[in-house]
Amino acid sequence: AKQNGGNGAQAYNLDMYQRVRQRVGLEQDLTLALAQQQFSLSFQPQMEVSSGKLVGFEALIRWKHPERGHVPPDHFIPVLEQNRQIIPLGYWIIERCLQLSLSLQYAGWHDLRIAINLSAEQFSDPELFNRLTALLQQYEVDGRFIELELTERTLVQDIDCMLQRMQQIKTLGVHLAIDDFGTGYSSLNYLKQMPMDSIKIDKSFLSGMLENRADGQIITSIIAMMHQLELQVVAEGVETTQQLEFLRQHGCDMAQGYLIARPIPQTELLGYIEQHFTQ
Ligand code: C2E
Ligand code: CA
Ligand code: CA
Ligand code: CA
Repeated sequence: AKQNGGNGAQAYNLDMYQRVRQRVGLEQDLTLALAQQQFSLSFQPQMEVSSGKLVGFEALIRWKHPERGHVPPDHFIPVLEQNRQIIPLGYWIIERCLQLSLSLQYAGWHDLRIAINLSAEQFSDPELFNRLTALLQQYEVDGRFIELELTERTLVQDIDCMLQRMQQIKTLGVHLAIDDFGTGYSSLNYLKQMPMDSIKIDKSFLSGMLENRADGQIITSIIAMMHQLELQVVAEGVETTQQLEFLRQHGCDMAQGYLIARPIPQTELLGYIEQHFTQ
């Protein structure tokens, strides 16, 4: 037993060592990736449930590593958050989204909103409001065409400071959404005070919905409660017509997921929406 314990500890250390090495490797590669622009954005359509109309997109970062191939954002975003490189990358993402917003408008798509994920580190950056103001002016994009997705992790930081920041951003007309709703600890009392426009129900509720009655009930109560607070509800991770029908019956406002469309590379976006949606 003693020897087994010893081996276990050794294996554990080796595993730790490899993970640390991997992380260091990833970190160096990320610095290079930032410099060499190995990043791109894909955009996933969001649809109004009642009408089937396209209402906008969520921007999702993609990293194509020269040797490793596609690295999922869940693997590298946490590293970039920890070393704060997410902040400059984040401004690059915002700028790309503003450029896209302009080209959509030129192409005749006038009311599409682009949702951008913001990490807690980005939202706490004291430069955020000024940079956002300047970028909107530079690209001449109205704030209402942009939405910032914040997670509950962002919102449990210094609440007064966060509220002030949200109110400042709201003066630009920019929409605010809470992402992954239901997985964190944001209290309903906070939510009432916040100048939010919408919440996104975490996809885990939707995937559990058909096997687990409780998940379906959680979804319907979230929808009812958010409508009481005059917030719009987006369901993410919609994969089946059954799920979409359930959402329609319970008055969910917007849906996003593989059933409607996969995230689409920016270069293919205009062609795709012209083929699949009507203006
Ligand atoms: P998220 O914000 O919750 O994004 C939704 C994730 O669900 C995306 O994964 C998307 O591709 C995936 N998804 C969409 N539809 C479906 C579906 O029907 N079924 C399932 N199973 N999944 C679906 P992705 O692109 O791998 O992104 C993972 C996470 O990485 C995001 O979760 C977000 O937290 C973070 N992330 C992605 N792009 C950015 C970014 O530009 N900035 C920041 N700060 N974080 C980002
Ligand atoms: Ca999101
Ligand atoms: Ca989400
Ligand atoms: Ca997530």
